[in-house]
Amino acid sequence: MAERATDSPKPTEISCCGQVVVILPERRLQYGIVFVSTGCACVLAFQHKTTSFMLLQRTIQQTVSTKGVGLHSGRRVEITLRPAAPDTGIVFHRIDLPEPVHLPARADQVGNTRLASVLQQGDVRVSTVEHLMSALAGLGIDNLHVDLTAEEVPIMDGSAGTFIYLLRSAGLQEQPVPKKFLKVRKTIEVREGEGADAKWARLEPYDGFALSFGIDFSHPAIDSTANFAEVDFARDSYIKTIARARTFGFVSEVEALRAAGLARGGSLDNAIVMDEYRVLNTDGLRYDDEFVKHKILDAIGDLYLIGYPLVARYVACKSGHGLNNQLARALLAQQDAWELVTYAVDEAPKSFSYDWKFA
Ligand SMILES: [Zn+2]
Repeated sequence: MAERATDSPKPTEISCCGQVVVILPERRLQYGIVFVSTGCACVLAFQHKTTSFMLLQRTIQQTVSTKGVGLHSGRRVEITLRPAAPDTGIVFHRIDLPEPVHLPARADQVGNTRLASVLQQGDVRVSTVEHLMSALAGLGIDNLHVDLTAEEVPIMDGSAGTFIYLLRSAGLQEQPVPKKFLKVRKTIEVREGEGADAKWARLEPYDGFALSFGIDFSHPAIDSTANFAEVDFARDSYIKTIARARTFGFVSEVEALRAAGLARGGSLDNAIVMDEYRVLNTDGLRYDDEFVKHKILDAIGDLYLIGYPLVARYVACKSGHGLNNQLARALLAQQDAWELVTYAVDEAPKSFSYDWKFA
């Protein structure tokens, strides 16, 4: 698929060796690639200037680690985040196995979606990747190695907040390669069930990144909060409005889930827990609409398994990890429904404009 610079770009003037050179927009990327191979200092400076007005890929500045527990496995796990080269993507590594196994964070590697998104390669799994993936999408991080000493990403406080803190502590690092976005050109929808039970999720063309989500849990504690939320990252900060929304569960389901090998690490420290009527966490909710905000957090993480930041609007009703994964796969399978694009800084959609300045 061809890469396009942007719509309606302008020519740019750059001075090199005392001469002013006009670079037509469609040549920017090509100039970067051509000049970097020559090795001339003047030309390298020229190349730097050429790419410096593109939106660039990102990794982290230094390696960081933390420890926690898996929400479903209940096992202790250490997670280490390491910088990765341009165009690496996000790659998980199971370093506890006799031979380390590498699992790229890709939608076609997802093997199980019951209560979490699970990457699978043969018998080797990395479970519950969605909250970390959501934080990476929120900070615009393209390339990262993630080492794990067990099969599940630690749940931390049940949100993406701890990962945001960890990643920002590591520092964000721009890399001299244009960032690729996946721009949706045609609407793609997936659906399950009929009538009032219908669940669906859709991606539509949109010049930015926005998400709308509706939930219906028929539970008094959830129904008393907003069942619908909408965010548009041209105006809303991921860190402020989404990152701290925690996962949630019901006491009535705990026994059945634990018998199925799920929720074994769940507690009031890493989830909103409800009995039949109310929230049991003594501190209450972090956002008035924390439940639906967490569903948006999950969707951002699940969609980042597409491998690129999306230029699209996501609209969903009662979707979950399974439907989100189906949507990602359906989009990637229909090649005329999307294209990869790069952007000049001054011509990019305003998405994530608040959070991406923290580098
Ligand atoms: Zn979640």
